[in-house]
Amino acid sequence: MLENKAWAQEKVEEDSEYFNRLAEIQTPDFLWIGCSDSRVPANEITGTQPGEIFVHRNIANMVIHTDVNLLSVLDYAVTYLKVKHVIVCGHYGCGGVKAAMTNHDYKQVLNMWLRNIKDVYRLNKDELDVIENEEAKFDRLVEMNVKEQVIHLAKTSIIQRAWKHEQRPQLHGWVYGLKDGLIKPVFEMEPNTLNDPLYEYEDL
Ligand SMILES: [Zn+2]
Repeated sequence: MLENKAWAQEKVEEDSEYFNRLAEIQTPDFLWIGCSDSRVPANEITGTQPGEIFVHRNIANMVIHTDVNLLSVLDYAVTYLKVKHVIVCGHYGCGGVKAAMTNHDYKQVLNMWLRNIKDVYRLNKDELDVIENEEAKFDRLVEMNVKEQVIHLAKTSIIQRAWKHEQRPQLHGWVYGLKDGLIKPVFEMEPNTLNDPLYEYEDL
């Protein structure tokens, strides 16, 4: 609480209108879908301020089609806030991805969640199985997982509708390095580039 008071005071000293402006309206250009890991806070690592990024976080930054929480955040950000960019940001050393690479029984409900990451491994098994270095394999799965979640976004009618009518948002897949603090872009999707007829909705 003391830290909160000091922070609020500091903000007002820097800019007397700071809270008046933020309390009025939020108009973020970005939706951030990141990992819940405490070491990967969206605002800090991107050098942005409150009001600039709409945020959803879960274990291993997953986009799961039955996740009502994620889909509500996505719908609100894309349809109502009209964000221009959606970022899925994973991170090297992700505990969720690492857990999915083991055979350990984490019991329900963690097994259910991690199974989605095991599916990403299976989809990319040919490439991953030949990587002998375990650390390199782990890093590569983190990148592949981010890419797969971006593709999952493109499969939603929420994204496809905005793409069709407003040519936004751009989708970005990033991986953050815990050891150097740097973000590596690993995958991008421009509007209307899913190119997979089975997943494309008509009459949007
Ligand atoms: Zn993580």
